[in-house]
Amino acid sequence: MREVQIGGLVSFTTIDYPGKLAAVIFMVGCPLRCSYCSNPHLLSVHDGEYDPEKVFEWLQSRVGKLEAVVFSGGEALMQGEALIDYMTRVKELGFNIGLHTNGFYPDMLKKASAIVDWIGLDYKATRNKYPELVGQNIAHDHMIRSLDTWLETGKDFEVRITCDPRFITKLDLMEIAKDLHNRGVKNFAVQKYIPHFEDNEHGTTPKERNQFFDDDNLKSAINSLFENVTWRE
Ligand code: SF4
Repeated sequence: MREVQIGGLVSFTTIDYPGKLAAVIFMVGCPLRCSYCSNPHLLSVHDGEYDPEKVFEWLQSRVGKLEAVVFSGGEALMQGEALIDYMTRVKELGFNIGLHTNGFYPDMLKKASAIVDWIGLDYKATRNKYPELVGQNIAHDHMIRSLDTWLETGKDFEVRITCDPRFITKLDLMEIAKDLHNRGVKNFAVQKYIPHFEDNEHGTTPKERNQFFDDDNLKSAINSLFENVTWRE
């Protein structure tokens, strides 16, 4: 059997899968290089620090205590069929399967949609700003294909954006929200950019980071476009 590479594990969370007690497994490898990435140790493809079989045995011990397992990263779908095999085994234990994804692998997402129950999809910026933010020219187009792929499944999901003021303006955020509304997205999450250690040198001020959350007119305009908007500060 092909083996997955696991770089991290959160054993209990109430915020990574809507309404369910979950564990999060962080997979190594990501095709993007987002300026604000808080998991740079997971980006290169390397042997994972965790033995997948030991993680699986631990998940067996969590049956009846946890309800869901979320695969995150890095970009979990980068591990292709090995990930799908592993997720299938985890699902057979009775867990709901969640996936946090940047949408770079729409074809693999389509395959995974037979197993995955819920996704959190990153929408990182307007199309023209994507390359500068993620270091990849085609990432926006792939993400939109992933969004369309998931919409076809009819399964639940959330689109989330991290508002890094170096790459997003309030006008951008409104434009993105309208785009998502027009595509039929129901659940949108707006996340505050929290600079990690290396990012501090790029110097964003608290005021710049808070601007999306302090503007009541912007918030109510965005809230009116979706069934649910989560403002994560
Ligand atoms: S997609 Fe996620 S893991 Fe990959 S570089 Fe961007 S923030 Fe980091």
